[in-house]
Amino acid sequence: LRQSDLTKRYRIKDGSGFTLADFDPGDQDGLDKESAKALLAQSAERLGELQERLYAEHQWAVLIVLQGLDAAGKDGVIEHVMSGVNPQGCDVHPFKVPSQLELDHDFLWRAALVLPRRGHIGIFNRSYYEEVVVVRVHNDLLDHQGLPPELVTNNIWKERYEDVNAFERHLARNGTAVLKFFLNVSKKEQQKRLLERIDDPAKQWKFNAGDIGERKLWDQYMTAYEDMVRATATEHAPWYVVPADHKWFTRLVIATAIIERIEAIDPKFPTLSEEQLRAIASLRASLAQD
Ligand code: AMP
Ligand code: MG
Repeated sequence: LRQSDLTKRYRIKDGSGFTLADFDPGDQDGLDKESAKALLAQSAERLGELQERLYAEHQWAVLIVLQGLDAAGKDGVIEHVMSGVNPQGCDVHPFKVPSQLELDHDFLWRAALVLPRRGHIGIFNRSYYEEVVVVRVHNDLLDHQGLPPELVTNNIWKERYEDVNAFERHLARNGTAVLKFFLNVSKKEQQKRLLERIDDPAKQWKFNAGDIGERKLWDQYMTAYEDMVRATATEHAPWYVVPADHKWFTRLVIATAIIERIEAIDPKFPTLSEEQLRAIASLRASLAQD
């Protein structure tokens, strides 16, 4: 199967001209659920192997940013895509409403503190992009960020995009590969999933009354997400606008994109020099005789 075509059509490296309306949340690229699930199982295993090499080589880090509205499927992606990965080399960080300590710093600070180290895969479940999404939709949130008022101008979103781009370029130049996924769920499918959360006792804990209010701001969120992709899709940190109405498809696209990126890095197990090999051979001989 041509798994690489699977990611290309959703990958955006240059955001100019990007229009969300061109991307269908229900797209499944002709795949059916059964074959996609089989491919995902293989991909999870493949990702596990690649991650072991990434860890052993200890040079590159991989940062995976997941953005999307409530019930878009971010948690499920983490659970299913990373199922073959050794937990020792993988960190997950959810980004919630910022604490006072976090607000008392620049908006990238809390993300910088938890970036993946070399050899690790770091997953941001939401991220610094909330600063140009939820904060833009609810721009009264800016009033509580403690910023000097003279710095809060009409340019603030443009400035934040620039700062995010500079931050990601800096990461890329220092050996962190950045991949960003926008889980593009339709309004109809979100309604279905939120209703499920309310109706299913095992999912009720996930339901947040606030989600209903956010849903009413759907169009504002879509505008914020569209502008975000336009302004921050770059060669070194592309956005993937992933169809999210079929969870099995979302997961397969994301797994494939991560695999492709690590395959391009092509991490290798460290090899020993002739001298080191001789040294361990003699240690082996004495150990065997012990
Ligand atoms: P959840 O991911 O459903 O657990 O919810 C986390 C909530 O935190 C979401 O409603 C986010 O919009 C919110 N959140 C995350 N980052 C920020 C931020 N920088 N400013 C304000 N709210 C945020
Ligand atoms: Mg939520």
